[in-house]
Amino acid sequence: MEHNTTKSRRAFLYQLSMAGLSIPLAAAALADEQTLQNMRQKKDGKLGIALVGLGGYAGGQLAPALQQTEHCYLAGIVTGTPSKIPAWKEKYNIPDKNIYNYDNYDSIKDNPDIDIIYIVLPNSMHAEYTVRGFAAGKHVICEKPMALTVADCDKMIAASKKAGKHLSIGYRLHFEPHNLEMMRLGTKKVYGDIKKIAAGFGFVIGDPTQWRLKKDLAGGGPMQDLGIYCVQGLCYTTGMVPISVTAQEGPKTIPDKFKEVEQSLKWQFEMPNGLMADGHASYNDNMNYLRADAEKGSFELSPAYNYGRLKGKTPEGPMNFENINQQARQMDGIALSMMKNQPSIVPGEMGRRDVKLITSVYEAMATGKKIKIS
Ligand code: NAD
Repeated sequence: MEHNTTKSRRAFLYQLSMAGLSIPLAAAALADEQTLQNMRQKKDGKLGIALVGLGGYAGGQLAPALQQTEHCYLAGIVTGTPSKIPAWKEKYNIPDKNIYNYDNYDSIKDNPDIDIIYIVLPNSMHAEYTVRGFAAGKHVICEKPMALTVADCDKMIAASKKAGKHLSIGYRLHFEPHNLEMMRLGTKKVYGDIKKIAAGFGFVIGDPTQWRLKKDLAGGGPMQDLGIYCVQGLCYTTGMVPISVTAQEGPKTIPDKFKEVEQSLKWQFEMPNGLMADGHASYNDNMNYLRADAEKGSFELSPAYNYGRLKGKTPEGPMNFENINQQARQMDGIALSMMKNQPSIVPGEMGRRDVKLITSVYEAMATGKKIKIS
């Protein structure tokens, strides 16, 4: 690999000189490095991903999806639980040199097999592990919500810029055909202007001891975990970002379970054109919809946010899209943008926007006031 790299570097510099390009040496070396990195022949031409945090989402969705991806593959793991290692090693054929823990995580910088670090840890850990990932010189995909505060999002974006590496958020629905259709129908005004729009996501959460119910780790309750999908849906279907919000916390019917976080909440975004967009998230009710009423009829998804079997309808009848592996499509899409050095369609800036919106919803809920979103 090193040999090939050196050879390609020479070939690249030779091509530059043959092309008569008078690029200063330092700039040429930088361009050389970048191009080589983009073109580097990895395992079957794929970028290597290391999953950080081997919980339900990493093990149940991302690792299996990485067996189907064309542009990236599961190259490594980072875990604080050594007992998980043997099963992962065996199932996914991961070499020892690509297995890390949280203490030696930073030394991943010396591992050329890993191009992308994918943070799948509890929400409060996203910022730290993303910033460390960039310090190690890797691209980062970070799960939603990007972080708990806008200040942390700013640090993550600054770290990405400093490293010259891409930051993407794990917004899988931007790669999913039904949700892409909602974006098209809404933003292209296929059925005219949207007059009313609503999104709701909820389920009955189990284990009362899990981190999702702990404020310091989750940052809040269903708003952080599920409401974020509604925030996304309301923005991508309208193509607008809200300018103000009001919100109301739902009753705590199981106060013991929801000691630290809200059990449910509703909120109302005001869009720049005056449209009101309603959101609802709950850890104790089942709902899963994204519905828009436009001048010439309604279009909707229900379920809207699951990993598969989404159903949509428009004034012309049911939507008819294949159910794809969302995570495989998402990681391939992101890997391709990284390889081509093109902007991500789910960049850190979008994650930051949503953290700001969530923070505003919480502020509106806590104060009972209409909060302006600047
Ligand atoms: P999980 O509880 O199943 O896994 C969390 C992992 O983090 C575990 O491996 C656990 O050992 C590890 N961990 C490290 N420090 C921890 C600590 N202090 N407390 C608890 N766990 C700790 O959670 P998950 O469902 O895999 O969620 C992880 C992240 O992925 C979250 O940010 C979540 O929002 C996101 N997620 C995204 C989707 C999606 O569809 N995009 C779906 C599920 C989860």
